Amino acid sequence: MRSLATGSRAAARSELVAALARAAAGESLARDAAVALLADADCTEPLLDVAGAIRDRHWARTVTYSPKVFLPVTNLCRDRCTYCTFRKDPDDPDAWTMLPDDIEAWSRRGRGLGCIEALMCLGDKPELAFRGYRTTLAALGHRTTAEYVERACRIALDCGLLPHTNAGILTRDEMARLRRVNVSLGLMLETVSPRLRSRGHVHQWAPDKEPAVRLAMLREAGELRIPFTTGLLIGIGETLAERVDTLLAIRDLHRAYGHVQEVIVQNFRAKPTIALADAPEPEAADVARTIAVARLVLDPEVSVQAPPNLSPDDHALLLRAGLNDWGGISPLTPDYVNPEARWPHVDALAATCRASGYVLARRLPIYPRYLARSGWLDSSLRPHVERLRASSAPTAPSVTLEAATP
Ligand code: SF4
Repeated sequence: MRSLATGSRAAARSELVAALARAAAGESLARDAAVALLADADCTEPLLDVAGAIRDRHWARTVTYSPKVFLPVTNLCRDRCTYCTFRKDPDDPDAWTMLPDDIEAWSRRGRGLGCIEALMCLGDKPELAFRGYRTTLAALGHRTTAEYVERACRIALDCGLLPHTNAGILTRDEMARLRRVNVSLGLMLETVSPRLRSRGHVHQWAPDKEPAVRLAMLREAGELRIPFTTGLLIGIGETLAERVDTLLAIRDLHRAYGHVQEVIVQNFRAKPTIALADAPEPEAADVARTIAVARLVLDPEVSVQAPPNLSPDDHALLLRAGLNDWGGISPLTPDYVNPEARWPHVDALAATCRASGYVLARRLPIYPRYLARSGWLDSSLRPHVERLRASSAPTAPSVTLEAATP
């Protein structure tokens, strides 16, 4: 005779199978089912099958990446997320602020190697915390980091690249200005859990990681009709329900404004110098289930992306889970946020995709549907985009990575 526990597990399993069937037929995945699917390792195979099928239906057999040069304009930051090794204080020997000549030199080198995207990724509002940095900005002729980034983007544009900026929290006015020199903007939502801002959690010392502040910026980006990249960071102390709530918040904002072009599922990586040095990293199956649930929760036109350098042994598994994009990969600059994690060789990644039945293709840092609609790209940027769309630059060659520090 079956025990009650076995019977209720079987009933729960059949409910999940039914939820997957409804998702396969085009229905949204309900919150409870999404949480249960993340938790239930026994459902991994059918979950991945359905997510992969939905990806194939909408994105066909092409998986993309963006050839980029990573320009860490400054690694000073007023926040202190406990998993971060990127941020530095001004007196740290590894602190830097790139000068205009540095930005130009690295942009030219990146373009020469076939890069399309200039990723401006930097610390959050260091001018609010550091007097010396305010002096540096003033010497450069600027009052705020956002102003300086606008100049950096113009330099990158002049070098033939398409800027995509992730500078942390920006005001509406700052986004409106940066929109004129960026084809898209980004901000990782990371999590909607205010719990992670409380004492002893990863965002205790990071006022800019207040979920309400980040959600407000995402909403304003939608109002401004800015193609937007966001995502979640998993393995930082969030619950599975909070992971799903983060996805649902992104889905709802996209449904309101139509601006979310891609969602990154980024897995926490432990590093010896951080407070979380001994914290467990999300396992490959957990990352895969989260990608699959993201595919099922988000609307199908939203690209689901995972950084290939953070799961170097699991590319085939992540493809099975339903991702359709690998994000930015650089032939020139490292991932400054996870510098220990090398980019895969594009040829090797293409071979993995091919073995799984997919073609790896380059893409622009603005997705095609935003080029087809009016009002989503500043008119001054269209010639830059068309030039790069028309160019058939070869796949970037493999070169030794160098740090773009000044
Ligand atoms: S993760 Fe971003 S906001 Fe947090 S400390 Fe690092 S640079 Fe600053």
